[in-house]
Amino acid sequence: MSGSESGMTEAIEKPRLRHPEKANRPASPHKPKPPWIRVRAPTSPVYHETRALMRTLDLRTVCEEAACPNIGECWAKRHATMMILGAVCTRACAFCNVATGLPDRLDPHEPERVAEAVARMGLAHVVITSVDRDDLDDGGAEHFARVIRAIRAAAPGATIEVLTPDFLRKPGAIETVVAARPDVYNHNLETVPRLYPSVRPGARYFVSLQLLARVKEIDPTMFTKSGLMVGLGEGREEVLQVMDDLRAAEVDFLTVGQYLQPTPKHHPIDRFWTPDEFAGLAAAARAKGFLLVSASPLTRSSYHAGEDFAALREARRHLIEDAR
Ligand code: SF4
Repeated sequence: MSGSESGMTEAIEKPRLRHPEKANRPASPHKPKPPWIRVRAPTSPVYHETRALMRTLDLRTVCEEAACPNIGECWAKRHATMMILGAVCTRACAFCNVATGLPDRLDPHEPERVAEAVARMGLAHVVITSVDRDDLDDGGAEHFARVIRAIRAAAPGATIEVLTPDFLRKPGAIETVVAARPDVYNHNLETVPRLYPSVRPGARYFVSLQLLARVKEIDPTMFTKSGLMVGLGEGREEVLQVMDDLRAAEVDFLTVGQYLQPTPKHHPIDRFWTPDEFAGLAAAARAKGFLLVSASPLTRSSYHAGEDFAALREARRHLIEDAR
């Protein structure tokens, strides 16, 4: 609504700060990216088609909101991770580029628009994530379930992966999402427990672990997945301990990628792990029994999610056959 329509006179609107809570933080010095981090600028026509469809249907993607480096590659394959429940997050994680502040009004028609996008793009596998909505009674769990049901109706052949927040431990939230039967339930631990107070201050490491364990408890056939970033100041031994914790929660699929600092006010990069170090982490994770591991500098939790889901199913099939 314009100022004249609302009866107001020429109020000058200040541009909204994307991360108001970080405004007074000191900026950390820029760390040049090593050669293995470089990505190509998006140019493909399919990238532009994907972008246009998101705009037409008024949908948001974590690819754009989080300034993901893989957007050129993923969108050229129509692989966009849609972000539901609005554009504004009620938490303020130190690594994340999603806008923070007062959340948007919940859009009851969003599930149908997400489903329409999946159908129009002809997706075989879709990843749905969200901002944190600590303000909602169920943390947004029922909205996730509605999105899953709408996709099943509009695109019955598509497999569905959800990447959810911890729902602030709201009673019944995990159960609501699991009951809608996504194919993969992902919840990222993001970092090692020692760094939670500075990296993920609104979350609790053991709550996130319990969430993953609870999903398996409710439905042992549902694939579970979790992701970590490295480069925030963690040690290798700490990462290996997190892997053990995730295996104790029976998590099937682990992703590990390099943290990249979205702005100078975000958490500084401690260091860039080398491709060889990622290969070492992947080997260690496989030895610990994950069904599938993706660990590389540019790995993100939704990167290559479609191909990885096929590999996950195949790995489980082999496991069952070997046990016979
Ligand atoms: S890796 Fe995930 S968030 Fe990044 S562009 Fe690809 S689908 Fe989007």
